[in-house]
Amino acid sequence: MNSKEYFERSKKVAPGGVHSPVRSFAGMGREPVFFKSAQGPYLWSVEGKKYIDFCQSFGPLVLGHRDAEVEAEVREMIGTAWSFGACEPYSLELAEWITSRIPWVEKLRFVSSGTEAVMSALRVARAVTGKEKILKFEGCYHGHADSLLVKAGSGLAGIAASSSAGISARMAESTVVCPLDDETLLEEVFTLHGKDLAAVIIEPLPANYGLLIQRKEFLQKVADLAKQHQVLLIFDEVISGFRMALGGMAQILGIQPDLVTYGKVIGGGFPVGCYGGKKEYMDLVAPNGPVYQAGTLSANPVGMRAGLRTLQKMEREQGWTQLDKKGEFFEKQLTDAMAEKNLQFIRQGSLFWFHQKTETPLRRVDQIPATQKESFNKVFLQGLERGVYLAPNAYEVGFLSLAHTDEILTEAATILTDVIKGL
Ligand code: PMP
Repeated sequence: MNSKEYFERSKKVAPGGVHSPVRSFAGMGREPVFFKSAQGPYLWSVEGKKYIDFCQSFGPLVLGHRDAEVEAEVREMIGTAWSFGACEPYSLELAEWITSRIPWVEKLRFVSSGTEAVMSALRVARAVTGKEKILKFEGCYHGHADSLLVKAGSGLAGIAASSSAGISARMAESTVVCPLDDETLLEEVFTLHGKDLAAVIIEPLPANYGLLIQRKEFLQKVADLAKQHQVLLIFDEVISGFRMALGGMAQILGIQPDLVTYGKVIGGGFPVGCYGGKKEYMDLVAPNGPVYQAGTLSANPVGMRAGLRTLQKMEREQGWTQLDKKGEFFEKQLTDAMAEKNLQFIRQGSLFWFHQKTETPLRRVDQIPATQKESFNKVFLQGLERGVYLAPNAYEVGFLSLAHTDEILTEAATILTDVIKGL
């Protein structure tokens, strides 16, 4: 059975044939590829075609697919137990590993996804401050919790409108949305809403609407205003955490959030999320405090051990420095070819993206050229044809892993250069 046939079957039993929307290749004009196996930097489709994978499950697989050490760890755990719903030492080990290395995470709670981590962190922030509203930024994605599936309402910054059906207007009204990269507007928003804001949440490296690298001064302003107005600062490091550096963007920027959310890399490819921060805040969580939050499969031992082994290997092998070098190597090979076709390659560490060249660096959603989809889709489809798999959407970033050797990066860059030259 080929991908087309699988997709037809799948559409009968799942909305759009998928279990997360981007997987459907919507707008690409072809059916999605169905994959059957993966190893290191490679994916194999059900047809047996091999692809170099720059999606890596949207970020968790920082060591590549089925890293041998992680696989051994997982197999050992499965041979021992795969869920207790009770106390065990595996989550303790991961929690200690993290809290002993990241000073702003004094206590943490494991959950099963980034969405859950964010939802819970917001609940804590509301409990800490006794305030109701949340400030988020246009273009940042924080999972599909109701209060965050919002877009800017009327006016440049202000009360949000829901961006999905099925969300009560009242829910959306408790969220305020502001554009990135605009300190003046940010000050106005804090003046207007500061007294009602429980938290300001931001991806310190926005990587869900392209890669919108922020100026440090802007992020510092967010932190300063939050402090000034007794609003909790939440860094959503679901993508950037343990990928950009051990301490994520908070470490790189030297800005300490009150609460932080992690996901993806922390579970080594298994469903793990986490929220954490100052002890005084986290101690409000049940059973210590009044903020209820629970999970049947929370701190699942397989995910805990996969996550710990992944992080230990990253630390031992100075994975973060290696990833940055790989990124630089890949960037060097693509920048010129892209520039010839008026495209701009953007990168920070092991995350990359490209867009039609603009005069100034892209930092806001409204600056993204209208041609983004058109130019990306061509590169994506032709790359796919020739065995390079990018995340299947013009606004998703690319992910490198330690399994992407220089040789493989050169092979992929050669294919992509060829594709770009033919545009
Ligand atoms: N926050 C950020 C910054 C994310 O990138 C994502 C997922 N891409 C989430 C939250 C939600 O995580 P999950 O998909 O695991 O629920």
